[in-house]
Amino acid sequence: MTELATRPVDEETGVTRISHWIDGRSVAGESGRSGPVYNPATGRQTGAVDLATEGEVDAAVQAAKAAFATWRSVSLAKRAELFFRIRELVHERREEVAKILTAEHGKVLSDALGEVTRGLEVIEFCCGLPTLLKSEYSEQASTGIDVYSIRQPLGVVAGITPFNFPAMVPMWMWAPAIATGNTFVLKPSEKDPSASLWTAELLKEAGLPDGVFNVVMGDKVAVDAVLNHPDIAAVSFVGSTPIARYVYETATAKGKRCQALGGAKNHMVVLPDADIDMAADAAVSAAYGSAGERCMAISQVVAVGGAAEPLIEAIKARIPKVKVGDGMDPSSEMGPLVTKEHRDRVASYVENAPGEGATVLVDGREGAPGEGFFLKPSLLDNVKPGMKAYEDEIFGPVLGVTRVDTYDEAVRLVNENPYGNGTAIFTRDGGVAREFQFSVQAGMVGINVPIPVPVAYYSFGGWKASLFGDRHVYGPEGIDFYTRGKVVTSRWPDPATSKVDLGFPQTR
Ligand code: NAD
Repeated sequence: MTELATRPVDEETGVTRISHWIDGRSVAGESGRSGPVYNPATGRQTGAVDLATEGEVDAAVQAAKAAFATWRSVSLAKRAELFFRIRELVHERREEVAKILTAEHGKVLSDALGEVTRGLEVIEFCCGLPTLLKSEYSEQASTGIDVYSIRQPLGVVAGITPFNFPAMVPMWMWAPAIATGNTFVLKPSEKDPSASLWTAELLKEAGLPDGVFNVVMGDKVAVDAVLNHPDIAAVSFVGSTPIARYVYETATAKGKRCQALGGAKNHMVVLPDADIDMAADAAVSAAYGSAGERCMAISQVVAVGGAAEPLIEAIKARIPKVKVGDGMDPSSEMGPLVTKEHRDRVASYVENAPGEGATVLVDGREGAPGEGFFLKPSLLDNVKPGMKAYEDEIFGPVLGVTRVDTYDEAVRLVNENPYGNGTAIFTRDGGVAREFQFSVQAGMVGINVPIPVPVAYYSFGGWKASLFGDRHVYGPEGIDFYTRGKVVTSRWPDPATSKVDLGFPQTR
């Protein structure tokens, strides 16, 4: 492995080389393969990310394996102290990482800061690790016998993350994994990989021992090497549903613990009694924020009865006011999409909508800034099950409206959808909202809240095709995922009660 200055820039092309981070240092990839990283606001290539070989993944795993023995023995007090330091550093330098996110992902700076803040909440939650790892103790479970449970780390664990939250989603994983005593290998998205290197440098500066946090850049080759590696005990994945399913099936077949979060098609149900202005504000914010590239974005409004006309008018009135532009410009509210290929794919849903029988009310292809991967907000009406615009996760600034006559039809639509990440209802009727919470099949439910991402002391995860595995991420389930239980039954010598007894142990 050759040591590399972190992120060196090619003097001729101005392109930054983005490579691996193994055992506390930047390491040059030797596969000869790399992927382009763009500034989506200009459309120009700014980086070249090394794509790892199986051997490079193994080097990261071996570094993590070597660091595990020492790291798991570090006291809870020392680990908590380190987490407080990490919290302070991320907080102090949040604008620095936000700029990295905007430069490679395209999201506007205020949104990038929001991403870092939500990730920081998970780090703050992990500062309470001594309390989170407290266990149970039963004195005198049997005469002279005490029983207690402890939770221990798994060993080397890995995270594979998507492009849309390059700082926050890794934080959902590495923070609880490391806090609970594991060592970590991160395989970030190859589309916007620099935030992971920023994180690696920050963790080293905070005092995290070398080898506890490693980053391997890469594509399917690296992912497969992670899934097949015998020394990786658990894999956390966040990304699209087909890859989540593949990761879950492959990892579990190899005997690993796995949580794999997939895609989404989040419906927002609006009842006729809702505050229409509030619902329209929420729909526009949740559909077009981050250019719709959020797994918790609202992509489908289900308007019940008389809600449809006023709601559509209110959404239409708001769309022209959304300021689309370079995310570095503080006045921009919505940035470009991540790549040209993705922008074109998203635009194709607007192009094909009339052929499917939907109505294009606002066409975001018109007037989009010329340079970069921009698309303005689009609004489609009369979108129905069976149409691609309804069935597919578009993952861009395209909001569909489906009209139904009754609340029951609306809930049926949500429940028949194969995804079950988030959903929301807008109403003033507490009884109907409670019925919705009771019946709806989704992991995260908003009542007059369009993006119900749970706070860090609850756990995040969807149902159905939005999650493979039985543990959600971060919060209490994240702590559970990265630890395994052990129950100790203990007795101290008492000659008065000692005798040979070949019977099966029973409580006395
Ligand atoms: P993606 O599935 O294309 O990529 C995710 C990760 O998998 C990346 O690290 C990528 O390198 C790797 N990967 C891609 N193709 C692969 C293959 N064929 N074999 C093995 N690995 C492969 O997802 P994306 O486009 O980066 O992210 C957007 C998707 O992520 C959307 O579907 C979105 O809904 C989802 N997402 C879900 C959540 C959630 O919490 N449920 C959160 C964020 C994003």
